[in-house]
Parts: sequence; structure tokens; C-alpha cells
Amino acid sequence: MGATETAEPMVSSARKPYRLVSRDFHPDNSVVRVGNVAFGGDKVIVMSGPCAVESREQVMTSAEFMQRVGVPVMRGGAYKPRTSPYSFQGMGVEGLEMLAEARERFGVLIVTEAVDHESLARVAQWADIVQIGARNMQNFELLKAVGQINKPVLLKRGLAATIDEWLMAAEYVAAHGNLNIVLCERGIRTYETKTRNTLDISAVPVVKQLSHLPVVIDPSHAAGQWQWVEPLALAGIAAGADGLIIETHPNPAEALSDGPQSLNFRHFEELMEKIGRVARALGREV
Ligand code: PEP
Ligand code: MN
Repeated sequence: MGATETAEPMVSSARKPYRLVSRDFHPDNSVVRVGNVAFGGDKVIVMSGPCAVESREQVMTSAEFMQRVGVPVMRGGAYKPRTSPYSFQGMGVEGLEMLAEARERFGVLIVTEAVDHESLARVAQWADIVQIGARNMQNFELLKAVGQINKPVLLKRGLAATIDEWLMAAEYVAAHGNLNIVLCERGIRTYETKTRNTLDISAVPVVKQLSHLPVVIDPSHAAGQWQWVEPLALAGIAAGADGLIIETHPNPAEALSDGPQSLNFRHFEELMEKIGRVARALGREV
């Protein structure tokens, strides 16, 4: 082939920098199971809850609501990677204990973030799904450690990571022994400043072609404003995402982190209705 013919991919599949997470390695969709939830199957999995665990009352109120509206997985950060060192940093172990109590009482599974080796050890012990946030997507030593735990991981896309870099991050986890990975598109940094980030909807079909791993959408951190969460969530499902992770708060105006992008319970319930309708239109259930 001449030098000007570029129809062939630059990198042949045999030399791809990721292998275990690629579709070539595993042609069927992977299904990541946790409790009675399966990511990557027919159902669209909705996860929701506050950005951060703030108090026992906030967590229990949220968990009770999630149970009532049929959300199987509750989110809530006990360790918060905040851009400013002066922002609320999370409740740590105390927060994890509250999440565990909420699981006991209301039967919700828990997804919560680990930010370093120390918190990973604790989160892996308490949570059902370990979240690795955008800021740690290329913390390779942490990814190696995540590969050695026996809990599923929700791996968020880095703030400015390409799809290949994101898949290589997933490969780190897989190569160290953990193939229970759910990828999460949460918006990337672009020149646009009206939204907090730009939701890369195209990442869903692209990643699904390149990888067998389930992909979910986080419309909250993409939007930055609660009013835009609904259209982005619905677009994510329409694009083929396997689930959503959405920030809600019993009283967004009082939230200690990410209040502006958090839905109140009434708005979230309305969104759940619409998620159900879009999912059913595509032959899926919630
Ligand atoms: C979060 O889920 O609250 C969070 C910090 O997300 P991200 O890592 O995507 O910014
Ligand atoms: Mn948040």
C-alpha cells in the first residue's frame, strides 16, 4: 500500500495497546453483575444519589427515596476529590458506614469513590461498586491496585482523556486481574464553557464498537446545571448506554458539593418516567 493510502487503521488490532478490554478479545458484550443488577444486559441500570455523603439523615432520606422509585444503586462520595482544597472533602469512613447502613435498611447497592490506596482498601471493603473518578483515571498505580480487588469498578473517563487513553486505563485494571469494569462517560473538557463539560455522546457507540465493556453516562457532571441533566440522560439512553449515574439531593440548594447540577426528588422522579419510556422505545427496560 502506498504512503498516501490511509484507509487501513494506523494500528493493527494485534498491536493495540489494549487487548483484554477490546472487542477482538471478547466479541460478545460483557455483563458485569453485582447483587441483582447486571450492567450490559437488556436493562438500563439507573444509579443515583448525592454527590457527597453529608449527614446520616441526608443518606437515609436519599436511600429511602431510591428504594421507593426503584433505583437499584445509590451513589454518594465519602472521599471527594475537590478542585479547591478549601471545599468539603468528604466524611471518610464515617460516610462509608452511613452508606452501609443505608444498604442494610433500604436494599440499595452502593457505588462510592476511592481516591487513593488507603481509601481504596476501605471502599473495597464497604461498597458494592468502586468508583474511580475522572481525576484518577490515569493514576496508574491506583488502577493496578483496583485490578487486585474483587469488586466491580466504575471507571470514569478523564477530564481530557481520549477514548484510547480511557480504554488503556481500563486495560490496567483488567491486566491486573479485575475484568468487572463499567465505563462511565461524564463529559470532557472542550472550548465550550456554558456547560461544565461537553458530554461526548459519540463515545457510547465508539466504545461499544471497540470494547465489550458496559458503558454508562453521567449527565450531571457533563451538564453542571440540573436543567440540562434530563436531555443528556435521555440522549445517553438513546445512544445505547447501559445505564446512568445521576446526582440527586433532598435539598440541592443546601448541598455541600455539586448542588447546581443535582436534581431534587420531584424532578428525578419525572426523569425516571421518561427514562423508562425511552428505554422501552428501544426494546429495553429500566
Ligand atoms: C463524582 O462522581 O462526584 C465525581 C467527582 O465525578 P468525576 O470524577 O466524574 O468528576
Ligand atoms: Mn459530583
